[in-house]
Amino acid sequence: MIVVMAHKASKIAIDRVLVKLDEAGFNIHLSQGVERTIIGAIGDKTRLNDLALEAMPGVEKVVPILQPYKLVSKAYMEGPTVVKVGNVEIGGDSIQVMAGPCAVESREQLLEAAEIVRRAGATLLRGGAFKPRTSPYSFQGLEQKGLELLAEAREKTGLPIVTEVMDPRNLDMVAEYADMLQIGARNMQNFFLLREVARAGKPVLLKRGASATIEEWLLAAEYILAEGNRDVVLCERGIRTFENYTRNTLDLTAVPVVKYLSHLPVIVDPSHAIGKWRFVEPMARAAIASGADGLLIEVHPHPEEALCDGPQSLTPDNFNNLMHKLKHIAEVMDRKMGSLQ
Ligand code: PEP
Ligand code: MN
Repeated sequence: MIVVMAHKASKIAIDRVLVKLDEAGFNIHLSQGVERTIIGAIGDKTRLNDLALEAMPGVEKVVPILQPYKLVSKAYMEGPTVVKVGNVEIGGDSIQVMAGPCAVESREQLLEAAEIVRRAGATLLRGGAFKPRTSPYSFQGLEQKGLELLAEAREKTGLPIVTEVMDPRNLDMVAEYADMLQIGARNMQNFFLLREVARAGKPVLLKRGASATIEEWLLAAEYILAEGNRDVVLCERGIRTFENYTRNTLDLTAVPVVKYLSHLPVIVDPSHAIGKWRFVEPMARAAIASGADGLLIEVHPHPEEALCDGPQSLTPDNFNNLMHKLKHIAEVMDRKMGSLQ
């Protein structure tokens, strides 16, 4: 439930409500806006009537939340939430593009890719050091060496880095290097991992599971917020359907729907959704037109040599062209392309 405090509720009034909820065993999440204080309380609904919260001084109303997710919902916070990764704000006026190779393969490859995406206007560098591969025989990533190279690329370009964590056993190591932790589609419902990653205190990029409904995706985000980490960015990356010409089916309807249901920022990954480089640009444009806050785009200096996801990776020229076109779409949407401070 949400307890909305009156416009000028005093600190004493707010504290009294907090104590009462705490004594009744509710889990409390406080949102102190400029206008008013909103208290999110998660716990046994049957105790609500006994508490008579609406009779307490300073309480404007008590709103039960009917959706299964609470902290991610608009009812809890009108939003929009702006997530800061380094100096880059995701979910504000600017469209942020995170780009880079699917996997960190070598020093030369990563530094070249980082320079290319920075020059073209990306504001975050994304690359995998731990890769969730369908086959155990495929390249699995450079692991710690890959993380070190990402840190070096950040040093050289100023781009904050986003990288995936697949296993709580590697969390401390990944969190030591990363500015934002990615939970991949395959782990979206790995609830233990979600909790652990939330506690690392870094912003989280939560990809939608290939067969997850929007509600399941929001509930996965709820796990992270429920641990006290509000810096979550959702990423639509395609869902599995009967269509097999493309790798997945990009569900762009998810963008306005999630924006309607939640205050969290949403970005789109057309690379993994479509799996073929030539369709990445049109769907990236469509994603921004649908209201997405940013994009995740795979870019490789030489896609034909990539150890992972070459067919969907943009060449440097194609990425440059895409970034030019996005500027126009962003303008139509009354937004601008992000830039490094
Ligand atoms: C990735 O982002 O590199 C990746 C493997 O994507 P997904 O988890 O969406 O399949
Ligand atoms: Mn990939």
